[in-house]
Amino acid sequence: MYSHSNSIVLDGIIMTLYERRDLERFAHLLATSKSVVITCHLSPDGDALGSSLGLRWILTAMNRSARVYVVTPDEPTRNLAFLPGFKNILPYTRSVEYVDKLLDSADLLICLDFNELSRTDRLAVALRQTKACKLHIDHHLYPEDFADLLFSAPRKSSTCLVLYELIRDAGLKRFVSKNAANCLLCGMMTDTGNFSYNVSDPAIYSAIGDLVSLGADKERLNRLLFDTFSESNLRIQGYALANKMELFHDMHAALIVLSRDELNAFGYQKGDTEGLVNRPLAVPGILYSCYLREETDYIKVSMRSLGDLPVNELCTDFFGGGGHLNAAGGEYRGSMDDCIKQFKDILAPTKQKYIDGNRLLSDILNQKL
Ligand code: 5GP
Ligand code: MN
Repeated sequence: MYSHSNSIVLDGIIMTLYERRDLERFAHLLATSKSVVITCHLSPDGDALGSSLGLRWILTAMNRSARVYVVTPDEPTRNLAFLPGFKNILPYTRSVEYVDKLLDSADLLICLDFNELSRTDRLAVALRQTKACKLHIDHHLYPEDFADLLFSAPRKSSTCLVLYELIRDAGLKRFVSKNAANCLLCGMMTDTGNFSYNVSDPAIYSAIGDLVSLGADKERLNRLLFDTFSESNLRIQGYALANKMELFHDMHAALIVLSRDELNAFGYQKGDTEGLVNRPLAVPGILYSCYLREETDYIKVSMRSLGDLPVNELCTDFFGGGGHLNAAGGEYRGSMDDCIKQFKDILAPTKQKYIDGNRLLSDILNQKL
């Protein structure tokens, strides 16, 4: 269905992932489709929404007669409401029948920022059923084989970067408006922790340069994405760090647990603990961090790590999830006590398997001392 093997050179950049004819097909689909649904993963983050809304801006500029809808599996969080086009998003949970109808009549479905259809929760059934041509663009490992055209780049730090490079290399850069540039830069910023991890690939800097030239306002995005917190968000983070952070120094691990009662007491709203799981990594000696949040019928697991400690493997093996090397998550079905025990049980084996004798991790430990 697609080729990983061919290398082509475009604009002096060696592309190893796609063939020229894939790019041509991509451009053709965008230019000629009449009714397009763009979708992304559940609880959409800056990369999921940034790529979805960014592509909608690009597509409508290219193809003025197309009807283009951005559908999210659930309600997106308000902290991304500043993204241009946010108010036109159709959350599936709010309009099931309408979205089912759109998918019935769509001729192009574009899936962004997830590897498996199951990451779209209840929307997955309708996505599988639609007769629309399926275009899949993502940067997670192990893409499910469901699309007619797949662009999968697991080495890239964000879907927004993958998408921008596709648009550029397909010769479509002129359709990237200021609004599109802001959306795409948003995803590149959020998936790299404001360009602090997964940023060794120099290609990201030329993409940033291009997007800023096209009108993206990096200072504004910086303030809105990383320096804006609701009162409840700030207070929960303070409480969690002061009272709920447990450090296992010998095991180089950290754990934060928040129960429903605690979250409710702070008036928790979705997104309020975004970024919390990263904080313990600031402590010298800590190499990975786990945050457990009690939801009504499961426990949301979030993990982050430094170096090459693969939290995606831990999430896959023990918490029914997956993700990236340094940022992963899962859903644990069971009691909070059992979930905490599960985490504590993997501390020693994780140290033995991934940390002991690991040169990169011992360098990180030494540098921080
Ligand atoms: P977060 O901790 O921000 O919720 O998620 C970090 C990353 O972990 C996401 O970008 C996603 O790749 C992955 N992830 C989070 N939750 C799940 C899950 O339940 N299942 C899978 N497969 N991946 C997840
Ligand atoms: Mn992403």
